[in-house]
Amino acid sequence: MTTRRTTTATAEDASQEGRGGARTSRAGGSGLAVAVVKPADLAIIDAIKALADQHRDELGFHTRQAFIDSARRGELIVATLRDALAGFVRFHKRRDHAATIYEIATSPVRRRRGVARRLVEAVVEEVRRLGARTLRLSCPAELSANEFYPAVGFSRVSPRSRPGKQRPLIEWQMPILPPRPMTFVASLSNAANDLRHLIRLWEDEGSDDRPFERCIITPLFTDGRSLQHVRYIHDRWGVRVVFDSGGFFVQQGKVTYDELFPRLLDYYAHNDWADSYVLPDFVPTSRNSASEVDERVHVTAAEGVKFHNRMPSDLRPRALGVLQGHSAAHLKFCLETYLGSGIPHLGFGSFDTGGINAEINLFTAQSSQRLEVLRELLEGPYLRGEGDILPSLHLFGVSSPALLASFPRFLATSFDSSGWLRTAGYGNVYLPFLSRRNVTHGASALSCGTGLSAAAFYTACATSGHECPFCRDFDRIRKDRYARMLHNALVFREMTARLNDACPDGAAAASVGG
Ligand SMILES: [Zn+2]
Repeated sequence: MTTRRTTTATAEDASQEGRGGARTSRAGGSGLAVAVVKPADLAIIDAIKALADQHRDELGFHTRQAFIDSARRGELIVATLRDALAGFVRFHKRRDHAATIYEIATSPVRRRRGVARRLVEAVVEEVRRLGARTLRLSCPAELSANEFYPAVGFSRVSPRSRPGKQRPLIEWQMPILPPRPMTFVASLSNAANDLRHLIRLWEDEGSDDRPFERCIITPLFTDGRSLQHVRYIHDRWGVRVVFDSGGFFVQQGKVTYDELFPRLLDYYAHNDWADSYVLPDFVPTSRNSASEVDERVHVTAAEGVKFHNRMPSDLRPRALGVLQGHSAAHLKFCLETYLGSGIPHLGFGSFDTGGINAEINLFTAQSSQRLEVLRELLEGPYLRGEGDILPSLHLFGVSSPALLASFPRFLATSFDSSGWLRTAGYGNVYLPFLSRRNVTHGASALSCGTGLSAAAFYTACATSGHECPFCRDFDRIRKDRYARMLHNALVFREMTARLNDACPDGAAAASVGG
């Protein structure tokens, strides 16, 4: 088997997101990172109070104690730049699913760096996690800040302003999407020779549960023996299976799109046991010209719909359309084409690519921007009440532990990774929300970082709460790559569960397709 899409060290190591709860960004082209965090100690309160006093006309008067109380309740978020205060927001989540922003201010010397926007985003994420469904605020009618709120997603409650204590106020509100639980989908690409060992090892030593709930394979490019193993874990372990289309092989020139279409249709028609059926896609790469990308995007969406219409009717609700493209217009075209044809399961595959054969997905700033665009396209109509379904969204093959924490922000309901297998082969292990670490001490050809000692490994496990039968013996995890693989799969499962804990309902993970 070959992988459809893979992650790279660049993606892991260049990631700036989701570490230690802080999120940093390169704002305003300044090259300086703005950190948006809950204040860890109260030392910053004086700076917040000073900034609030500077804006007393706009914000009104607030005591120092009010900020201390909010900080203690976790309802104060600050933006810092080079450790100096760049802005703050104070808010309150009520019991009735409503949340209110009390004050938001940015430092005058830090304006135009997107600080206020970042602060609003941070509040939205926080109150979403706390179960809010509406975020509100009111702002004195004469302030120019009223131009900012619609730009970050607020709409006016009423065209008329409300009389305030001293002056008329404009009331704003924003609906908050419920959190979407996410599923780890284990990519079994590259597992041809490993699956048999992994199955035996899990059945000998694993729990009654399974190491992953869901897996993805490309059946047309998977040998029969491996497919039998996949069928086995589907039947015996209850692992749900995603059939990938083989778009990667079109991208690689191993098969033409025209050849793929009928072969895939035939295969799907004869194999109804999968949970999700990826529609054929024509993957653009970073090396394609603009017109080539346009063409591939149009072929993917238009032919995808034709394919969907020809699938057996009982499989159609399990079809997953792949969103391709490098621009907002491309993504919008794919999205509208699929949703207009009743395809409610979507996947995003257009990461930038690198490597000799454009085989490696990169989580670049552009990829991240595309995901932001996609999020707005997905949630916009839903939030405006124009549509009542929010499609599921699968992220294809970007999957290092360090990136995971940012996926819920992009409304992802699932992601797949072959990294748990591949990195184990290089002697590396994952630890929750940390980058991979090498444990074989250079014993394999492609290891990364300095080797991890047993003491450091178990300290990291204790910190992250990880424990599993496959890493109990350090010597074994150093020597046995199958043990490392299952350990890595379990780390992905644990991380996903941890992120889903933020979903108050504890809802069952949303489906990739069906
Ligand atoms: Zn382990």
